[in-house]
Amino acid sequence: MRSNSASTVVHLYPVGMLAPHEMLAVAIEEARIGLAEGGIPIGAAIFRPDGTLLGSGHNRRVQHHDPSAHGETDAFRNAGRQRSYRDLIMVTTLAPCWYCTGLIRQFGFKTVIIGESQTFEGGIHWLRDNGFEVRDLASRECIGLLGGYIHLHPNIWNEDIGEDMDRPVTKAHRGPGTFISYCRDDLDFVDKLAKDLTTRGTSIWLDRIQIRAGQAWDKAVENALGHCPQLMVVLSPAAVASDNVLNEVAFALDEGKPVIPVLYQDCQIPFRLRRLHRADFRSNYTAGISDLMRALDMLM
Ligand SMILES: [Zn+2]
Repeated sequence: MRSNSASTVVHLYPVGMLAPHEMLAVAIEEARIGLAEGGIPIGAAIFRPDGTLLGSGHNRRVQHHDPSAHGETDAFRNAGRQRSYRDLIMVTTLAPCWYCTGLIRQFGFKTVIIGESQTFEGGIHWLRDNGFEVRDLASRECIGLLGGYIHLHPNIWNEDIGEDMDRPVTKAHRGPGTFISYCRDDLDFVDKLAKDLTTRGTSIWLDRIQIRAGQAWDKAVENALGHCPQLMVVLSPAAVASDNVLNEVAFALDEGKPVIPVLYQDCQIPFRLRRLHRADFRSNYTAGISDLMRALDMLM
């Protein structure tokens, strides 16, 4: 994973040892395998301090109808019997739930590396308070992967974290995604785009989906704009004539957030967006979405 020939690379970790994000990459790969199997995309891996991988696994609730098969427990089983866990590192794409926090405590892992705790905090405060080292890498990739799944399958997610099935998943569990700024005239296109992005594991914030009945619309939009890490704007003649769209874009740019223009129809590109790379959907939707996914990946 690490290039030995590049002499200019500054090694923050001794040669042969993996950096936390390299260990996380193994857990993310497991999460992606789980997603491809139709399961919840949460993965985990167990390493020795020298970077030796002892075992990895992923959540198999859906695949095996097994509520006890969490990413961590799957990796734990696959690692087999270990004489001691005192020096071992548990790596997981999501903060461990109470059940897995118990496993970490029971076997006395030394360190826990997590992809993210934004979607779900689990027992990380308890672990820290009890002397475990917890490193949160705040991975956009992990947030997007799970966020997209939860958006499509809120009930399975609630089941996994032990929430009542009929209680709607809360916004806090979703994590903020990419804010989609658009004009109502382009609703058909925006709905299709939102669905396709979500299917690809991208977490999005779309007012039509996220704002609940009775919630103050303006406030919810403002709040989301503030929290979303980036914005994508669907450009069309109607959109570039909309004050709302232009205000949302201006806000994101002023806040220093990345903005990705999505060119839906020929139009006069607003001045501040002219230098930005655009995902062009005008002649070919499939090419447009590939371009957009590449642009989003570069931000992650
Ligand atoms: Zn768990």
